[in-house]
Amino acid sequence: MARVLLSVAHMGGEERDFVKEAFDTNWVVPLGPNVNGFEQDLEQWLNRHSDHENHVVALSAGTAAIHLGLVMLGVEKGDEVICQSFTFAASANPITYLGATPVFVDSEADTWNMDPELLEEAIVDRIRKTGHKPKAIIPVYLYGNPVKISKIMDVARKYDIPVLEDSAEAMGSLYDGLHCGTFGAFGVMSFNGNKMITTSGGGALICRSKSDADRVKFFATQARENFPYYQHEHIGYNYRLSNVSAGIGRGQMKVVDQHIARRNEIHHRYAELLSGVEGIRVMEPKADKDAMPNYWLTCICVDEEKTVGKDYRQLASLLDSNDIETRPLWKPMHLQPVFSQAPAYVNGVSERFFNCGLCLPSGPMVSNDDVDRIVGLIKEFCH
Ligand SMILES: *Cc1c(COP(=O)(O)O)cnc(C)c1O
Repeated sequence: MARVLLSVAHMGGEERDFVKEAFDTNWVVPLGPNVNGFEQDLEQWLNRHSDHENHVVALSAGTAAIHLGLVMLGVEKGDEVICQSFTFAASANPITYLGATPVFVDSEADTWNMDPELLEEAIVDRIRKTGHKPKAIIPVYLYGNPVKISKIMDVARKYDIPVLEDSAEAMGSLYDGLHCGTFGAFGVMSFNGNKMITTSGGGALICRSKSDADRVKFFATQARENFPYYQHEHIGYNYRLSNVSAGIGRGQMKVVDQHIARRNEIHHRYAELLSGVEGIRVMEPKADKDAMPNYWLTCICVDEEKTVGKDYRQLASLLDSNDIETRPLWKPMHLQPVFSQAPAYVNGVSERFFNCGLCLPSGPMVSNDDVDRIVGLIKEFCH
């Protein structure tokens, strides 16, 4: 039996045609018609659930999108940027690329995402301690779960600090009927191999205006000024998505809604089959307003007191020996050795989840039979 993986890419079928077209027309260079086509596909798709028009710039990675978002917000050496602690390191690393310092803020138990009250405490305390406001705020849509973004935006507006939404895991998640990643100054998409759709590696920055998008494209192509020769007045980056990768993305946009629907089905199958299983809780984070997660990954918490001291690590190794891949939840950034010097505003929530949680196979390649077998093993573990 093949190993059941956490979240793998699934091609819809038309990707090959777009890539072939790139070869046939000799657009195997960076940029070209697939890049423009992919950006338009993403814009139209986002605009279906948005209260404004979105402008999307396709980039080489979600991490590059965060980096350029911070460049656009003017983050510089010596600045502080507030970042959700419960996340993947890619949310915070780009802050340090610019010589700025991350300030970590913990999550709330009902969404797993940035606690708006703790955010305000952190802002007030940073101003008191440093005499300066943080330059930006990065909330994260962990596992695709909506942040209480209207509360975060209220705090951000009160102190006039821009928000860069790390919505890399949240493609298709809605908050109050609108796409996550379209509320702040910028939003992030990732097309890495394990995300909702893939370009075999890639990302995008969601912008609110065409002029912002044009400026992002400028920084993403070495900040080359409009001169007949190579003139440079700013530091630039080589961050554009290639025309071949964008071809895969155009094919994936034909199946993105199916992928979201399938992950939703898988989540609800796990939830139904595991309901009432003593010691296991399927995580169903809830935001304050009408929120629809994309169910990128289904996560469970193992309650050691009810499983006679056996914890999530033992469950992971049982599943692993049955050829099922799982992964612990993200280890919070304030507990990472590399960020041990960074200021952190902590309430214990992310650490608690980190110590009990596991992500289960959730990708579109996971069958109902796989889910049933996984649930069977989890039940066996609990007995
Ligand atoms: C995947 C991910 C990113 C980075 O995206 P890449 O395309 O892998 O660079 C950023 N933030 C979060 C929360 C992610 O999960």
